[in-house]
Amino acid sequence: MPDIIQILPDAVANQIAAGEVIQRPASAVKELLENAIDAKATEIKLIFKEGGKNFIQVSDNGTGMSETDARMSLERHATSKINKATDLFAIKTKGFRGEALASVAAVAKLNLKTRKEGEEVGTQIEVEGSEVVLQEPCSCPKGTTFTIKSLFYNIPARRKFLKSDAIETKHILDEVQRVALAHPEIAFQVFNGDTNIYQLQAGTFRQRIVALFGNVYNERVVPVEEHTDLLGISGFIVKPEFARKTRGEQFFFVNDRFIKSPYLHHAVTSAFDELLPKDEHPGYFIKLEVNPDRIDINIHPTKTEVKFEDERIIYAIIRSAVRLALGKYNITPTLDFDKEMAFEFQMLKKIEDVPVPGINYNPEYNPFDPQPKKNKTISSSFHHFTEDENDFLTAARPEPGQPVPETLLEEHEFAGGGLEKMNIFQILNRYIIAGSKQGLLIVDQHRAHERIIYERLIETMQSQVAASQMELFPETLEFNPADMALANEMMEELKKMGFDLEPFGTHAWVVRGVPADAVGHDVKPLIESLLEQYKNAQRMYKSEKQDNLARILANKMAVRSGMVLNKMETEKMIQELFECKMPYVSPNGKPVLFSLTPDELDEKFLKSKF
Ligand code: ADP
Ligand code: MG
Repeated sequence: MPDIIQILPDAVANQIAAGEVIQRPASAVKELLENAIDAKATEIKLIFKEGGKNFIQVSDNGTGMSETDARMSLERHATSKINKATDLFAIKTKGFRGEALASVAAVAKLNLKTRKEGEEVGTQIEVEGSEVVLQEPCSCPKGTTFTIKSLFYNIPARRKFLKSDAIETKHILDEVQRVALAHPEIAFQVFNGDTNIYQLQAGTFRQRIVALFGNVYNERVVPVEEHTDLLGISGFIVKPEFARKTRGEQFFFVNDRFIKSPYLHHAVTSAFDELLPKDEHPGYFIKLEVNPDRIDINIHPTKTEVKFEDERIIYAIIRSAVRLALGKYNITPTLDFDKEMAFEFQMLKKIEDVPVPGINYNPEYNPFDPQPKKNKTISSSFHHFTEDENDFLTAARPEPGQPVPETLLEEHEFAGGGLEKMNIFQILNRYIIAGSKQGLLIVDQHRAHERIIYERLIETMQSQVAASQMELFPETLEFNPADMALANEMMEELKKMGFDLEPFGTHAWVVRGVPADAVGHDVKPLIESLLEQYKNAQRMYKSEKQDNLARILANKMAVRSGMVLNKMETEKMIQELFECKMPYVSPNGKPVLFSLTPDELDEKFLKSKF
């Protein structure tokens, strides 16, 4: 048998490497921007179209390349940045693996124009799928321009997995923000087609933050500063009162390289500790300077992970630096509605274990029992169903997705006229009890309200009848430009649901009205958290878009567990719940209610023996 092992042809090897380095248009953008920075550019211009799928161009005024270097730069393991293994421990450049350009060249059509300072003519090279199809002298400004056309044109499977233009655009702008924050000393211009998204002058870190995220950030941030032998920390944290529901502005840089580090992230969030409610995220822009020989940035092909030799100490220093900044600027927590809710909810959790004050009686009390059980209270007994009881109750509700037994509704006469014959009240600030001669219903107030709002939103969207609306004093919502495309994607659906909004400039919306169900909610956090969840549901298909938005919104707008409801509110809730098409399950498929018929109740008492 002949030997079978061969060395892979370069083009194939490059395509495989590309799989790791170039996952989407944004990765190509990142690599090109970083190369421009390594070439000491002071001005960089990025133009992309259609989420970068068919066109990405990065021009810089950096060192440029000689003809030979230009040709070499596209080869794998071709780098000017290191030449011996020990250099790996003193990396000051972004790149060093020498595989980015080779990878791009393997999976796209690429054009390169470059000229070194002092040389009369430059060089132009064109490559398609690793093959050089053109190389000639050209006249061009000093510096380098890379143009990528048709990314993944030769790997249809990969191309197919790219997301919508809006989502790919967001990924690109995320990369731009990271690179631009890491290098405020470099001027950037960014165009999406003809639209100038960013025009960033060289300046300080603070100026760069403001230029990227809006003027309001000038008052929102406070500096963090700490210098020890081991590391330098500089940058800003966002004051807790401006924390957001969306996990927006969280940036760590190590030696001017954006990194992701759940561990260090934890150091920051733990410093904010009690200052933020659970569902709000602190914002930060933190730069660390560490001696390059104390870190390893070589562990991930896209170089966004770093291994620190002194991880624990760094954690402690960051945490105390952030605490210090919070203290120094006298930042005290301000109570807002959500925070109070969170507090109340914690109280509630405790109450579950502690008997609620009330008339003590014991349904299981047996004067003839030699070992009497502990007393229980009425209220807590609702939360301590025995296993039997639980099975029994569960049997009374359909599984999510199963048809609803019509009989339940009829039995209880809950729609319309039956209501006044019912005794309806709230317990534990989270359940509504409805009793009638047909038995007992125990309804989860949050899930019930979710169901009601959800069906209302869906109906409004589908019927195209103008939604009942609450007018607002017009409020502007500013978006991080990276979120803008996504926000605009949601806009039409939101309008159909009863939001009255329109674009305001390029980075904001103005909101003039909200659906009636949103009354009492702040529009800003509402839409911010909607956007955040919408972002996470990236894989959404068109048909599911409406449904997803309605589900998320219903969840946000529904009364929370822990909210005290008055008599009118509880009655309205029960009435509206039973006007729903599917009252038994929440939009997320969780049970909304349990029921007990008189027979079932009687049986319970018959079963308990003296
Ligand atoms: P790496 O950045 O890891 O060295 P790349 O494949 O990204 O690898 O680039 C290969 C080489 O091409 C770089 O080391 C650099 O010498 C050269 N190069 C790439 N982009 C530029 C640019 N914009 N200006 C000048 N030289 C560049
Ligand atoms: Mg590089």
